[in-house]
Amino acid sequence: MNLLFRQLGDPTSSTYTYLLADPDTREAILIDPVFDQALRDAALIEELGLELRWTLDTHVHADHVTGAWLLKHRTGSRIAVSAASGASGADRHLAHGDTVGFGSRHLEARATPGHTNGCMTFVVGDRTMAFTGDCLLIRGSGRTDFQQGDARSMYRSVRGQIFSLPPECLLYPAHDYRGLTATSVAEERRFNPRLADSIGEDDFVGYMSHLGLPHPKQIDVAVPANLRCGRPETMQEGLEQSWAPLTVTFAGIREIQPQVLGDVIARVQVIDVRELDEWDGSLGHIAGSTLVPLGQLSSRAGELDRGRPLVMACRSGARSAQAVVILQRLGFTQVANLAGGIIGWRASGLAVEGGRE
Ligand code: FE
Repeated sequence: MNLLFRQLGDPTSSTYTYLLADPDTREAILIDPVFDQALRDAALIEELGLELRWTLDTHVHADHVTGAWLLKHRTGSRIAVSAASGASGADRHLAHGDTVGFGSRHLEARATPGHTNGCMTFVVGDRTMAFTGDCLLIRGSGRTDFQQGDARSMYRSVRGQIFSLPPECLLYPAHDYRGLTATSVAEERRFNPRLADSIGEDDFVGYMSHLGLPHPKQIDVAVPANLRCGRPETMQEGLEQSWAPLTVTFAGIREIQPQVLGDVIARVQVIDVRELDEWDGSLGHIAGSTLVPLGQLSSRAGELDRGRPLVMACRSGARSAQAVVILQRLGFTQVANLAGGIIGWRASGLAVEGGRE
């Protein structure tokens, strides 16, 4: 049977995540998972009846936090990154030529430095598909102006490790900002405006040194987190400044994922903004949480401790998102919404008080 393949997108960072699985054994790997989308990815894996064996990152990303740690926590998958990435907390550090298996299939890791020192391209065993990370993009390339970027080594990586693949080999990048999803070796060798066969190394270097790109917004958060394979650093200290690895929804609401809340719950106040009958109802409530129905939140805000981070919870996360907005208007700074609400909390396998199956 054909390889099971899904291309998943993160709209905030324009990142692509790739799910590959052996349809016979159901073993799967995920390339470049995004922290904010980890629950979605885990749900898909579960619905497709797959077992996630590995998460792989093509490099230490500067624009989003990897979902590797969160997925490991949730699904038992293991983390693989390149040894040259310098990331800690992985189960396996890959070198050029290593293979990562899933069922009867495998990926070959090829070192393709240039965007960062530790960049890898992952090639499917039969060389019909390759995942190029931020080295080769569709009609473009990753930037080379930060994180040990080096245009000369990128040029050589593309020539030596990607354009040497069969012309019909499909290429899947870590990003596309125009909605393009895939390309092929033959196409890029002809039409890539920076790297086509007709373009020399010095031309490429000249092109790359004049891009004038803005500093990535997420870099100061994302790079340190990714050097820990996405593990939150807030377990011990630093709760004041960065009390948990929060994500931001497309609507701009700060959220905390259920697994993360589970890890930091002793240090935060959980406010449940549902009504009393729901609190006592079938979903139950989070142990230690305080019931303040949404309609009373403004008038009872004085009861809340401003010195401790607040997590707002409701059934699905919609009313509690409104609660976050209300408290922020009242000057609370350390407030986040429980992503997916009590439903998401329960779906993550976390315990409730009261409630029924
Ligand atoms: Fe990158």
